[in-house]
Amino acid sequence: MASPAKEYVFHGIPASPGIAIGTVLILKKNEFSVEQRKILPSEVEGEITLFRDALNKTRGQTQELQLKILRILSENDSKIFDAHLLILDDKPLMEEIEETVRKTLTNIDYVFSKTIQRYIVAISSIEDKYLRERAADIRDVSERLLKNLHGREDYFLDHLPGQRVIIAHDLTPSDTAGLDRENAQAFATESGSRTSHTAIMARSMQIPAVVGIQEDILTLINNGDLVIVDGHAGSVIVNPGQSTLALYAEKETREQKFYDEMLKESNLRPETLDGFRIQLAANIDKPEELANAKLNGAAGVGLFRTEYLLVNSRKVPSEEEQYSVYSKLASGMEGHAVIVRTFDVGGDKLSDAITQHHEANPFLGCRAIRFFREHKDIITAQIRAIIRASAHGKIKIMFPMITSPDEVDELNIIVQEVKEDLMKNKIPFDHKIEIGIMIEIPSAAIMADFLAPKVDFFSIGSNDLVQYTMAVDRTNEKVAYLYQPANPAILKLIKIVMIAARKHKIWVSVCGEMASDPRYTPLLVGLGIHELSMTPASIGPVRRLIRSLKMHDAHKLVESALLAGSSKEVMDLSAELISRMAPEIINITGTGD
Ligand code: PEP
Ligand code: MG
Repeated sequence: MASPAKEYVFHGIPASPGIAIGTVLILKKNEFSVEQRKILPSEVEGEITLFRDALNKTRGQTQELQLKILRILSENDSKIFDAHLLILDDKPLMEEIEETVRKTLTNIDYVFSKTIQRYIVAISSIEDKYLRERAADIRDVSERLLKNLHGREDYFLDHLPGQRVIIAHDLTPSDTAGLDRENAQAFATESGSRTSHTAIMARSMQIPAVVGIQEDILTLINNGDLVIVDGHAGSVIVNPGQSTLALYAEKETREQKFYDEMLKESNLRPETLDGFRIQLAANIDKPEELANAKLNGAAGVGLFRTEYLLVNSRKVPSEEEQYSVYSKLASGMEGHAVIVRTFDVGGDKLSDAITQHHEANPFLGCRAIRFFREHKDIITAQIRAIIRASAHGKIKIMFPMITSPDEVDELNIIVQEVKEDLMKNKIPFDHKIEIGIMIEIPSAAIMADFLAPKVDFFSIGSNDLVQYTMAVDRTNEKVAYLYQPANPAILKLIKIVMIAARKHKIWVSVCGEMASDPRYTPLLVGLGIHELSMTPASIGPVRRLIRSLKMHDAHKLVESALLAGSSKEVMDLSAELISRMAPEIINITGTGD
């Protein structure tokens, strides 16, 4: 009998907390190539039967997926699969493929992929944008069909063959958004970082994740291996021994108990021991995450990332469709505010629906509001939908990626035009709707004094503020050591923002991942931040910590942190305060930077 494989630990970046113990499914994208093969006349009918079976299977999976998307997203999102089904039911196309197999005596998968390629090339060159977009549908559905022809069911992220831990080189934010939530226990990737949108999505979906594993995990691990993914420590343990399994089972129980306690505290006031209240809100990507936000005691949505409305649809949702989503959110939050951020496409959030062009430096390019200077119709429709939804609840608009005050002037003009048009047409809306901007580019932080008079609130996007201040790509695991939210350079910028906000009497939130991580809570409290908006599961630990702190101590911490020379010094000071006031937070969430 072969001896049991040895336990081995891979180290990466903790991206989404939680522990999962399960069976590995390795995802290697574009791994299979389609080779041309001559077949015998006697093999023709067998090939065609294979093809028809794969077609039926693909049709069944697509219909199933469509129903699932309809259940968890919307009718609009589910419609994308209508296009897929139309392609599968395209009789002349399928007959042409079968005919070619008969005539040329070539293997079916080769003929299929060649024929489809020809269609994709032809459609991609058509002027009409709608038709061009169908090329992506053909590509999607044909990939699924090819996988079925090859018997590679396990490759569908949205349709896993059972409970699995996914190990991949990389997952895009859209891959993650489409993950089979019932069966994806956890994932681990070779690339990525804590603030990549893939990691952010994993946290909001509450899937434990480890990213940025720099050892060659894909070659050292096998499909079917037993693994433990520890999303707190950032480790993946392959072939765990009995004692490790027992240790993790105990950890899982302890963690579950802690989060159950947190839920019981969800209606306690997030107030320091000396009576300073910090508003705690939720970041959500999809409307159905609202229930979880409320369960965790969120007093509002501090960031609704609307770009995820584009992930499944491949076209910009109409004003009416957006209005319906934003109105539901507004009324669903029952009197609490919902901050809707306009589309922040670009960077790692490239959306086929909007951007088609390639940029050498997408994080420094036509991202977010920059893109809409040439697409005023899209941003106007979105602003209109948000303002109209304000008739149904407390909605606020937020603009991302502001670099300079002129941009705010331009956006405020659009807001004014939309309001005037709504008034002219007697369409109801909240005339006092608040307008805010994200402070996530260093120039905006430095110029906060000029920006503050133009808006009602600031929301600090620490994910990008760190990226642009430290010149470190937020998705690149190789430079993750430089990604330091507690670097004194970042704290100094936040301090400038707070001074400007106080002078102009506007409120400030932090909606970047720094707000979700208790290690930074005392610093943000001491800097005077009014609202922390975070992934819902973090609200409990952050609330517990706020309730264990004194503002006086947090102020003193910030004073020392602003005099420190490194992130490490600041993190040590913060950890010392946390371990004195709320050691249980350190035990669960860790202290490493
Ligand atoms: C941020 O940059 O901190 C932020 C909240 O926005 P995003 O992560 O979507 O870029
Ligand atoms: Mg950002």
